[in-house]
Amino acid sequence: MGPLTPTQCIVCDKSLPLWQSAGMAPCCGDPACKLLLAQRGQMGEFLFQHQVAQGRARARERAEEARAVAARAAAEAAESERAFEALRAQRGTGPGVLEAVLPSGPRRTRPVSARRRAAYEAHLRAIVAEAFTEPPPDAPPPAPPATPELGSRLPERLCTACGGGCCTAGKEHAYLIPASIQRLRFQDPSLQPEQIVQFYLRHIPAQACVNSCVNQTRQGCALPREWRSDTCNTWACKPLQALYAGLQAEPPVHTVRVLRRRQDQWTQTLLQADNGIVARAELREDALLNLRIPRDD
Ligand code: SF4
Ligand code: SF4
Ligand SMILES: [Zn+2]
Repeated sequence: MGPLTPTQCIVCDKSLPLWQSAGMAPCCGDPACKLLLAQRGQMGEFLFQHQVAQGRARARERAEEARAVAARAAAEAAESERAFEALRAQRGTGPGVLEAVLPSGPRRTRPVSARRRAAYEAHLRAIVAEAFTEPPPDAPPPAPPATPELGSRLPERLCTACGGGCCTAGKEHAYLIPASIQRLRFQDPSLQPEQIVQFYLRHIPAQACVNSCVNQTRQGCALPREWRSDTCNTWACKPLQALYAGLQAEPPVHTVRVLRRRQDQWTQTLLQADNGIVARAELREDALLNLRIPRDD
């Protein structure tokens, strides 16, 4: 065995600080690198080197994009801090004041098209059929941890201020899966497949948000809570998680100062998308106050 020496993975160029050669080409152990290296003999040296070069170019692009995303996140964080600073000067601060940067939910609505309705119905029929291959469960299907009961209206106000920025990915599936149907059947074993499908179809709102979940309206979700998916009932974005933690801290959060940025939860890191600050608000247990944008920041 030879000495331990620093070198690079022959495929991805990753540094290997301690590589014991023993006549083997250095490899970082990543499955993709191992696979390409294993095929080297079969594919021939020219094709191998070509694939290595392509892989490294893709890795460089990914690294550059990650740097650009991080740079924009840092610029946004600095801009948010200046905006919060201005709000602190204007409205004061102190224990129990939480500052949150939120995404934006969709603003425009329109009637749900026949195409969307048909796609949603097809999804519902597929998950209901799959659920009904089993009998109604005698125990509730496993679910993510429930949302804490904190006796505060602030979480609801936070989501109102955002406008459902996470619901945009619901499209024509609403995160409903066979386990959602099994949960309904656990609660009411007499439910029949067609009853379930028709219940969901009846709740499609007359006007739904554009480019979002088929159930999303300007006033929130059109589905009763117990008919929503576990994902919908338990998901919390980072600002909402921070609020849950703040409400359980001492002293508890009593005011949330919000900056809302233009993009939704899932597009906020897209480099080509404008993600400027579009609204400011202050949330209290008894009020949601929209704040004027000071002209000088
Ligand atoms: S959970 Fe977060 S992203 Fe979703 S509506 Fe509430 S504040 Fe917006
Ligand atoms: S079903 Fe309701 S809560 Fe779930 S993604 Fe759609 S609008 Fe949002
Ligand atoms: Zn490698």
